[in-house]
Amino acid sequence: MNDRVIIFDTTLRDGEQSPGASMNTAEKLRLATQMEKLGVDVLEAGFPAASEGDFDAVSSIANKIKGIEVAGLARTSKEDIDRAWEAIRAAAKPRIHTFIATSDIHMTYKLKMSRDEVIRKAVEAVRYAKSFTENVEFSAEDGSRSDRDFLCKVFEAAIESGATTVNLPDTVGYAIPQEFGSLVKYVMTHTPNISKAVLSVHCHNDLGLATANTIAAIGAGARQAEVTVNGIGERAGNTSLEEVVMALHTRPNFIPVATGIRTDQIYPTSRLVSMITGIIVQPNKAIVGANAFAHEAGIHQDGILKNPMTYEIMKPETIGLSKNKLVLGKHSGRHALREHLKDLGYDLSDEEIQLVFVKFKELADKKKNVMDEDLEVIVTEGILRTTDIFRLEYMHVTSGTTVMPMASVKLLINDRSVRGAGYGNGPIDAVYNTIAKLTDTGSELLRFSVSALTGGTDAMGEVTVRLRENGLLALGKGADPDIITASAKAYINGLNRLEYLKSHPVVATEGL
Ligand SMILES: [Zn+2]
Repeated sequence: MNDRVIIFDTTLRDGEQSPGASMNTAEKLRLATQMEKLGVDVLEAGFPAASEGDFDAVSSIANKIKGIEVAGLARTSKEDIDRAWEAIRAAAKPRIHTFIATSDIHMTYKLKMSRDEVIRKAVEAVRYAKSFTENVEFSAEDGSRSDRDFLCKVFEAAIESGATTVNLPDTVGYAIPQEFGSLVKYVMTHTPNISKAVLSVHCHNDLGLATANTIAAIGAGARQAEVTVNGIGERAGNTSLEEVVMALHTRPNFIPVATGIRTDQIYPTSRLVSMITGIIVQPNKAIVGANAFAHEAGIHQDGILKNPMTYEIMKPETIGLSKNKLVLGKHSGRHALREHLKDLGYDLSDEEIQLVFVKFKELADKKKNVMDEDLEVIVTEGILRTTDIFRLEYMHVTSGTTVMPMASVKLLINDRSVRGAGYGNGPIDAVYNTIAKLTDTGSELLRFSVSALTGGTDAMGEVTVRLRENGLLALGKGADPDIITASAKAYINGLNRLEYLKSHPVVATEGL
């Protein structure tokens, strides 16, 4: 049995289906660059037929990312496959990923097709995709709830038509590990030509079993895992990349398979995904949560000091979480900054370095030590968001126990300067009222939360907001040593994301 598991990352496609998690092309490119550094084998960059924005992002990624495979999703129609191919053709290793549902409930009620029609559609799609590239993946949507023998028949036909990977998704997150492992084993033994393709799995976490199901499937012979960083995705999310990789890494005797992931890039990637999407990682999240390596109970601490392996099954360094995160101080020069940004994965132009350097100096004046997280914020807010419609120019706030909180704010709206002032119940409320007035937004603020980016009282405050307008949902994120400024940045970021969604309407939301 092959001892290598292919890691297929779909953070940019299925992960982006998380409510509010839309990303612009610059942000997706940045994430794609980091995924390449992390060492995923296949990067599913998007669903090119779903929207113009998706198409643009996928083709930009295909043009830039040359070290790993770049996949584009397509339904079984020719139009979808044409669109996918057009978007990914510039990639060094393009992959077309086509899918159709195979469960009776989906075929009857959604597709209104018979089993034979579905097989015919699958065969046509794979053959057509194959006319563009050797590398074709076929997915049987809702595979875990499909008739076992029919599923094997569809896979056999897809492989016969040229599919090099066949994927078995647990689309609705319904499977149980023993059951899913046995289904994979059944497919491995009842699909006559399965040895000509890689069997893949794609799980959802509705019952909290996505990682368990994926591990069970790998144990039963699956050799590709479809995952997202931090497990983000629709509803309860997808299988989390870091959990699968670290389970395999930590228990090699149990399932003797390897991945190509550079585990020390796991934590930086997790941070970046959270920063760009605005989706916070829960503190008790396995591997990458803030508490995952915090042994605070006294008895554990005592053990850890004597020998870390008494309670730590993984070392924090393995996932790139080093205790020594001090990077740059007030006196660090431009050269040191450039080198450090390069280490973090940013290849910036001289102009961009200059912009980051100015912001870095401003921050170093307020904060003793500038950490990696701080630099990520400067780059995310200063470089990746340059296409923003709304930008904060200036704000001034007065508040206290004896005055009515008041804010005056100056914004750039499409490079036109506007200013205004307003009152509120507190300083943040005053700022938000003023920004809402200046931008004339029709959105509703659903959630507001604050956390600290790093340790210490001079740490940057990190604010996340969730906004809704006419059914569109957007998350906004902002960070600053001043919590009120961070709040303003988060609100403005959310408003910009809403504008992005309005100008990039999604025409297809199907998936697997
Ligand atoms: Zn999915």
